[in-house]
Amino acid sequence: MYVRVLPDQASGKLLDYRVPEPMRAHIDVGSRVQVPVRTRLLPATVIDILQECEFRSVRDVVTLLDEKPMISPALLDLARWMSDYYCCPLETAVCSVLPVAVRDGKVSAKKQNAVRLAKPIEEDALRVLSARAPRQAEALRVLMNAPHPMLVTLAANEAGVSEAVFRTLEKQGLVIIESATISRNPYSDRFVAGAELTLNAEQDAAMVAVREAMDKPGRPILLFGVTGSGKTEIYLRAIREAVNQGKTALVLVPEIALTPQTVERFKSRFADMQDAIAVLHSHLSDGERHDEWHKIHKGIARIGIGARSSIFAPLENLGILIVDEEHEGSYKQDEAPRYNARDMAVLRGAKENAAVLLGSATPSLESWHNSQTGKYRLVRLDQRVDDKSMPVVRVVDLRRATRSTPEGGVLSRPLLDAMEGRMAKGEQTILFLNRRGFSSSMICEACGHVCQCSDCSVSLTYHRAAERIVCHICGHSSRAPKSCPKCSDPKIRFSGMGTQKVEEALKKIFPKARISRMDADSMTRKDSYRETLGAFKEGKIDILVGTQMIAKGLHFPNVTLVGIINADLGLHIPDFRAGERTFQLLTQVAGRAGRGEMEGEVFVQTFTPFSPSIQFARHHDFQGFMEQEMEFREKFAYPPFGRMVMITLRGTVRERVEFSARTLSRKLKAAAPADILIGEGVPAPLEKAKTFHRFQVSLRGPSSLKLARLAKDTLTILTMPEDVFVAVDVDPLHLM
Ligand code: ADP
Ligand code: ZN
Repeated sequence: MYVRVLPDQASGKLLDYRVPEPMRAHIDVGSRVQVPVRTRLLPATVIDILQECEFRSVRDVVTLLDEKPMISPALLDLARWMSDYYCCPLETAVCSVLPVAVRDGKVSAKKQNAVRLAKPIEEDALRVLSARAPRQAEALRVLMNAPHPMLVTLAANEAGVSEAVFRTLEKQGLVIIESATISRNPYSDRFVAGAELTLNAEQDAAMVAVREAMDKPGRPILLFGVTGSGKTEIYLRAIREAVNQGKTALVLVPEIALTPQTVERFKSRFADMQDAIAVLHSHLSDGERHDEWHKIHKGIARIGIGARSSIFAPLENLGILIVDEEHEGSYKQDEAPRYNARDMAVLRGAKENAAVLLGSATPSLESWHNSQTGKYRLVRLDQRVDDKSMPVVRVVDLRRATRSTPEGGVLSRPLLDAMEGRMAKGEQTILFLNRRGFSSSMICEACGHVCQCSDCSVSLTYHRAAERIVCHICGHSSRAPKSCPKCSDPKIRFSGMGTQKVEEALKKIFPKARISRMDADSMTRKDSYRETLGAFKEGKIDILVGTQMIAKGLHFPNVTLVGIINADLGLHIPDFRAGERTFQLLTQVAGRAGRGEMEGEVFVQTFTPFSPSIQFARHHDFQGFMEQEMEFREKFAYPPFGRMVMITLRGTVRERVEFSARTLSRKLKAAAPADILIGEGVPAPLEKAKTFHRFQVSLRGPSSLKLARLAKDTLTILTMPEDVFVAVDVDPLHLM
């Protein structure tokens, strides 16, 4: 018996080894082993089992590192597929499937002392003891009532005695203390069981579809329901259904929505099986991640909840895979392998014969398209559970609105008045600003004109150094205008402003208000997110200013006003998905207002009030938006109608990066068949990141796989300068 293995951190080559007799019964595809490579001993992953070997002098596997293979055949298959489709080395893909904390095996589970009764104790004996040694009696009583061994620290806490009391009892032979592996449960609070609700008619129909999908998997369900329509309730029921059938369930939520609030909701519904829930997210320590992973791997956990990378959680016998907010950009990984967890969920479901449930209030165009062609089954929840009306959305035209105060500048009079009114009533406001930083398109503040590429219909990117505006999809470029090409006003500019500036301006305008800011900069401490949200929930903050972080899944009944400070920041970025994202964002943010008893109001400030994504969002018209956006995508052959691969080159010497990008574009053009369009090598919209200069070459055509193959083949024969790094992004989501 032989194995073909992929050694860690080697050349990426697959090597063959003989398996010594004693290991044969235990080794399998996905096992971790140690093998000799030249003079070193390297950890490796078994990729294949072979009965014969073509090489004469083949060496032996030295150690088998695990009892049960770390990677299931299905997941290894997924890794192989990723490596092929997303154009990355197999090892990179395997690394994603097996988290580093687990793979290195260094962080072993934490050992702690647990205590239990040595023998049953009579109530009478306890009474006698309690007269003489009340603390000991109390300690024993706690153990009597506990069904399992308890952590000593916990038992001491509960009995209100010191840990030494248990040591004394141990000496008397009354209790046994032993070291036990207790998982470090990051959410170790206790939960009260959440009651099941009676479903409404729409939810009932949705559950029928879910059950059908579980009986006969194959067609993913797209659950399309506005915020507050009861989608989460469907997820919870679907999980219960899977568990009742003896199967497992995996739930993906966007990283920023994986809040204690969300986790609590799941944990409380499954209060009867706390240990069977594993939570995986990026804030876990290595030890915690290790514990949660092993809990799943050993089959103790049967429900997995986590963000993007949890799609590879080693759950076996999967009944259902749920992806909440399936449209979310954070499901796409921005380093190799550049997979989209939503798409991987669909694939994993197909491979492992599990039902797939994708949910969203604003489905992506890709998923919507699939639901229209019949690839997905569309299930709708059109009513909000509480029958509350959607908030009123007011668009503030910044071209006209007298922009209030000199220090404000960014806050219009109508918005400020509304905030003042809400504060007077003791209600809360959320002010929302798009991802900060980078707004590189040119927009006329007088008429709202935005410079766009006529061939690609994306905003042109302003490049200061060359004083030019460039389309980074096709490469078309022209001189940057000094005045607006449409209305000749010289107020054409590119601008951006941060949350910090807004916070400062607000403090001047409302000196008495309690104002807090929430963005990646101000939320660096692990708990600051939770603290700020806590304070906001308790009404200790009047105005919360923040980025994307506050747009998701939070529920604040006292928030009646939401202001979007500059809708243009996300709308006029050089990305064909800009409109889709803005629509989604406005809809999500609007969903934050008026979740309680009071009616909500949303203000959207913009220089381009006529933009379809703003107008459709304002009228809560998803269908209308989809129809017009599909038309645009089809016309320009963008996804979901055409496919795209974006190759980004970066390096410290600009000339070398530019030259390489141009050469690459030329070679691709020479090799491309007629149905594949290759862009020029042009500066990326984000031209310089850290110390790197960035250039891009786009590929467009009908099949991602064909584009990826062309990119791979061309890059293999092209020698790049050593200091130019290449990233291939298949089905890119962010074109920066
Ligand atoms: P979504 O996930 O679509 O935003 P949720 O599942 O969070 O919606 O539901 C919104 C609110 O309505 C929650 O507070 C939830 O507990 C409640 N809810 C959901 N379904 C029902 C139901 N059938 N009856 C009563 N309340 C419900
Ligand atoms: Zn173009």
